[in-house]
Amino acid sequence: MKAQFKVNPRLIVEVEAETQKDLFKEIASAAEVFGEKKCGLCGSEQITFAHRTVTKGKKTYEYPEYHCESCHARLSMGSMQEGGALFPIRKLVKDGSDKGKPSREEGEYGNHQGWTKYRGNPGDESKAA
Ligand SMILES: [Zn+2]
Repeated sequence: MKAQFKVNPRLIVEVEAETQKDLFKEIASAAEVFGEKKCGLCGSEQITFAHRTVTKGKKTYEYPEYHCESCHARLSMGSMQEGGALFPIRKLVKDGSDKGKPSREEGEYGNHQGWTKYRGNPGDESKAA
């Protein structure tokens, strides 16, 4: 069975699964990944999807993320090692500001919802992006 749903005013996502349980899972995942409604720092609804590719040596890293057009904050997405499903990284390493680095392992949850003005990623040479 298939389901279409509006994750935000501008985007409709279609998901498909064999069972209701799997469909529920697909919808939940899509809502988590595509349903971001506003910037966690300034509250602006002017957020856009962005995707950066960084090549370091022979490896290519991909950075899917949300950008806030108002305050230029970002919300980084991680991806599961198995299956590659995306998820928002909601934890930031605490450094007393809104510029914490996204980290699932060392970060902490907070009002920022994972949004940060942190400028840079490991191996990131395209900081102008
Ligand atoms: Zn913002």
